[in-house]
Amino acid sequence: MPGMESHTTASSDDAPESRLKVVSYGGGVQSTALLVLAAQNRLPYRTFLFANVGDDSEHPATLAYLRHVAIPYATRHGLELMQLTRKRRDGSTETLMQRLKRPESRSIPIPVRMANGAPGRRSCTADFKIKVIGRWLRDHGATADAPATVAIGISVDEIHRANRRRAERYELIAYPLLDLGLRRADCEMVIREAGLSIPPKSACFFCPFRSVQGWRQLRENEPRLFAEAANLEDVINERRKALGRDPVYLTRYGRPLAAAIPANTTSDSVDELHGACDSGWCMT
Ligand code: SF4
Repeated sequence: MPGMESHTTASSDDAPESRLKVVSYGGGVQSTALLVLAAQNRLPYRTFLFANVGDDSEHPATLAYLRHVAIPYATRHGLELMQLTRKRRDGSTETLMQRLKRPESRSIPIPVRMANGAPGRRSCTADFKIKVIGRWLRDHGATADAPATVAIGISVDEIHRANRRRAERYELIAYPLLDLGLRRADCEMVIREAGLSIPPKSACFFCPFRSVQGWRQLRENEPRLFAEAANLEDVINERRKALGRDPVYLTRYGRPLAAAIPANTTSDSVDELHGACDSGWCMT
């Protein structure tokens, strides 16, 4: 869609020109394409912000790509790719896994599923990603009168996701891949032509939005992470039991993870990540 109208949303129609321009780097294919396009001076962004929900929560492959591929590439091209984490009042870092396992926690921030399979409301995306990036933007001068432009990696084939992210008062959301008319396959080509490998899906390894196929692959290929996810489900349910509440689950089957996804079930090689949004299931 070259030459099409720019895709931006703002908190007010008469918002002034933005001075601070950043990319919300989700760690996946689309935002890595934004990184390459910026390195080639095809996009006017120099600052990329990755909201890391925790080294104990992000999929290790995403962190490995970030640290061994994306950050070195950014550095070589004079771009800044920063990892941001959620801070407690005392300045220490809080991870999503720590929040989930906190003994006194009464609410569950991730979209766990009830016995009928429906996912519950979640606060993880807002608390551990949107607010973390928002805090950085405000610390660096973004206000309602001088909002920052925040570019998000959504490609043409997932255009329906573009309006799901509500803009905060201190930001204007931009969608450079839509403006350039790039599809996910184009993004992969941009990345490959720059000599980089294609990044894995970026999401928490225990995310209840993971597909059944994805759970099967995790059990088969990464049994340690699968066991950690099952343990997390147990911890949440022990706490709920003590509070007299019904159990919740990570899958839609209304059963504990290890029973819902038995070992040695066939798992074809279809990549569950194909066509997935850039920032995992968060859609930030
Ligand atoms: S990947 Fe899932 S669990 Fe992790 S922050 Fe996003 S919605 Fe929450």
